[in-house]
Amino acid sequence: MSVVLIVEDERHLADGLRFNLEAEGYRVDTVSDGEAALQVLLPANEERYDAVVLDVMLPGAKDGFAVAHELRQAGQFVPVLMLTARGRPEDVLRGFEAGADDYLPKPFELRILLARLRSLLRRREWTHRDHFGSLIGSSV
Ligand code: CA
Repeated sequence: MSVVLIVEDERHLADGLRFNLEAEGYRVDTVSDGEAALQVLLPANEERYDAVVLDVMLPGAKDGFAVAHELRQAGQFVPVLMLTARGRPEDVLRGFEAGADDYLPKPFELRILLARLRSLLRRREWTHRDHFGSLIGSSV
């Protein structure tokens, strides 16, 4: 079962996402600011989450860009789907620069978010399988 972390301070949105992701069979945790996100995602060698849905606009010292940047700097390469403000291409570019794997402008369609999340998780699975396969191969 895939475990997803939602980083979003808007309560109704976080709750709605959690409800829908759980209905899809995911296990879900939510945190509401950047500091809390970093706390549960670091150290990088602990793979507690299979993917992160990360809002750009977060309260406190760390917004979504800062979180993504710090994760990558620390070697935490969990797939990140970033939620950006609609009509702000500079947000999208900054998001990718910071290390996001994909983005979705707000407000988003739930079906699209689910599809993008699935695609991130699928890619992660492939990578893991390749890695595992090559480990087996080298040990024979
Ligand atoms: Ca927000």
